[in-house]
Amino acid sequence: MFTTKTNLMNPSLPDDQCPQFTTGTTEALDRAEAACRARGASLTAIRREVLELLYRSPTGVKAYDLLARIKEARPGASPPTVYRALDFLIEQCLVHKIERMNLFVACRQASHQIPSLFLVCPKCSGVTELQEQSVMSALSTSLAEAGHRLESPEVEISALCPKCVGAASAQCADGEGGALG
Ligand SMILES: [Zn+2]
Ligand SMILES: [Zn+2]
Repeated sequence: MFTTKTNLMNPSLPDDQCPQFTTGTTEALDRAEAACRARGASLTAIRREVLELLYRSPTGVKAYDLLARIKEARPGASPPTVYRALDFLIEQCLVHKIERMNLFVACRQASHQIPSLFLVCPKCSGVTELQEQSVMSALSTSLAEAGHRLESPEVEISALCPKCVGAASAQCADGEGGALG
């Protein structure tokens, strides 16, 4: 379906450098399809393609990139078709939308009982979904006590990723600019 093997957010990184997403993509898609069927919903071809694209892009895909990538595979796909597929995947808890980046990421968890915590790197736009149940339970309780309710099940925190933290400290270290020996 998707012949390109490059990582969309980081074209220098081939897909196979993200083993948890690329090995087992078909299995993950089959699992998602079975989960939808169990809920009386259907993972149609276009929905499956959108999900596959997101599984293969561990750092997520911006809405307009996603549209462009789907159009490569399906020239006839209209934006509303793709957005409806995304809405479906979000409803089925298979995909999350990161509002601050207008970015879509595949869910890395088997199932969702509670909201998810997303660390969004402001430098490279990398997104990490944390599975800290205790943190999220405590947050939900505090929110409820304050009389507030989460607007969406994605809680986003701006936080530099390890790579960008490393890059920042390398720059600070006595003017070291590169790794030339
Ligand atoms: Zn999730
Ligand atoms: Zn980063």
